[in-house]
Amino acid sequence: MPNLDWKNLPFSYLKTNYNLRCYFRNGKWGEIMKEKSETIELHIAATCLHYGQEIFEGMKAVQGRDGKIRIFRWEEHFKRMNSSAREIIMPELPKEIFRKMIFEVVRLNKEFVPPYESGAFLYIRPLLIGITPQLAIHPSSDYLFLIFVTPVGPYCKEGFKPLDFFLEQERDRAAPSGTGHVKAGGNYATSLQSIKKAAEAHCQLVLFLDPKEKKYIDECSAANFFAIKNNTYITPDSKSILPSITNRSLMTLAKDMGMKIERRKIELKELESFEEVGACGTAVVIAPAKRIIDSKNNRIYEYSPDGKPGPISTKLYNRLRAIQCGDEPDKFGWTTII
Ligand SMILES: *Cc1c(COP(=O)(O)O)cnc(C)c1O
Repeated sequence: MPNLDWKNLPFSYLKTNYNLRCYFRNGKWGEIMKEKSETIELHIAATCLHYGQEIFEGMKAVQGRDGKIRIFRWEEHFKRMNSSAREIIMPELPKEIFRKMIFEVVRLNKEFVPPYESGAFLYIRPLLIGITPQLAIHPSSDYLFLIFVTPVGPYCKEGFKPLDFFLEQERDRAAPSGTGHVKAGGNYATSLQSIKKAAEAHCQLVLFLDPKEKKYIDECSAANFFAIKNNTYITPDSKSILPSITNRSLMTLAKDMGMKIERRKIELKELESFEEVGACGTAVVIAPAKRIIDSKNNRIYEYSPDGKPGPISTKLYNRLRAIQCGDEPDKFGWTTII
């Protein structure tokens, strides 16, 4: 058992035992390789380095009270990874290779899965990169698929606590018909300036507007947006946002709790009418909004006068976490025990 302070794990990379790798060469996938090394050897002209031919995923394994390790919705992550691959012309992964590697990498690093009481989890990071040396811009012929894992604490060190969101009105994270719906590295490079600006304004999250009209709420830097109003769960309908598996799960739970679901355009001016607002994604599950800071219009929207998450966000958060760790029956079939 590694000697880690499980209750105070940061959201950052920690070395584990092994990572797994699989190369795509001459039009086919090779053997799965187990590696202790944390580095890769890469040609200096590899397409992933110069032209961003890179996609990734982020999923989690959680230890339950029963000591069992559960992986959350791996098939959905598999499907999304392949739809990302298609979007930027990379070879799709055979399901069997993806499945084998996910389960094997968790098994090989079992002692790094944080214990139940810690509230922490094992973050699984699959990565696919183009490795052919090239100067011209066209898809690689060879690829490396690798998966590493790392034990992490809550994305925000305060845990489930309302945060300040910075409303970005100058920059976009994605183009209207670009790759905003793809988990590709380039999108995150684009958002770095906004993340810096938000941090300077003492905000923990960035909220982007739709890149075409700058009129609707679109997406956070690495999480989807949702709001609660009149017993309704509302989330943006947009071509430039990443289809979050957490968001989809929350919609299912909200429906199950008797709420209405609306997936539609959300005008900026509607922000003042929301009872609760939050961002959702694998790492945070839900990051509730304390305030949204609109510095351009000199406005602040408040959602948490008492500094606590709203009642519906809290209920959704607790239920999803309970399913992920096995405290609540998995009636939707979302978890797989290792
Ligand atoms: C990964 C990600 C999300 C969240 O997706 P989940 O499947 O819930 O983890 C949302 N938006 C962006 C931009 C992302 O990269």
